Amino acid sequence: MRQKEISLNIRPIKPVDDEDLGDDHVMSSIETPLRPDAFEMPDEDKIQRIEKHFYDIMQILGLDLNDDSLKGTPHRVAKMYVKEVFSGLNPKNRPHTRLFDNKYNYDQMLVEKDITFYSHCEHHFVPIYGKAHVAYFSSGKVIGLSKINRFVQYFAKRPQVQERLTVQIGKEIERVLHTEHVGVVIDANHMCVASRGVGDTNSRTGTAYFSGKFTDENIKREFLNYINSK
Ligand SMILES: [Zn+2]
Repeated sequence: MRQKEISLNIRPIKPVDDEDLGDDHVMSSIETPLRPDAFEMPDEDKIQRIEKHFYDIMQILGLDLNDDSLKGTPHRVAKMYVKEVFSGLNPKNRPHTRLFDNKYNYDQMLVEKDITFYSHCEHHFVPIYGKAHVAYFSSGKVIGLSKINRFVQYFAKRPQVQERLTVQIGKEIERVLHTEHVGVVIDANHMCVASRGVGDTNSRTGTAYFSGKFTDENIKREFLNYINSK
């Protein structure tokens, strides 16, 4: 992926106070829209049903499903949807976290950068992929560094819009670490822009979430400088 300077021009998504979460409009923009009965059906049944429907889609497109190469595709796609690329819809797959005391009394910014992720655009069901950069100030607790990566993957494995993915990661890090100081920057390629529609293969999309100390211009700059450093 081409590296480009990430500048302060990224328009930050305004952090939302928890009190605002009761508001329907805000809620629908931050939470993935799911039906209340979303996980009543067992995964195995979901795979079976999606397989049937995907078989129909391929059939309608005129593909010969007796062909050896195509025969297994409906099942492969269904299994991939439920068990892999959309597994982050199911709360049972949310990463478990263990908090550790911040024994070293480290009170500076911690940055986990260049976290590669693969997601899917919820408008076209084609890949969004890119890098996420996550930073926070500890409130006395820390988590294993790989957990930050796992949270990114969890929220990426849903049909997404990049803005929501960014806020969901930021909010989750705040919640898990009991901190108000979180920065998230995502730089991504959208296949729905690159491979269809306007067909622009070079454009990338930047989104950011800054809360607490990260709304301070100096702190923000320190974070962005580190992301841009090799
Ligand atoms: Zn799209």
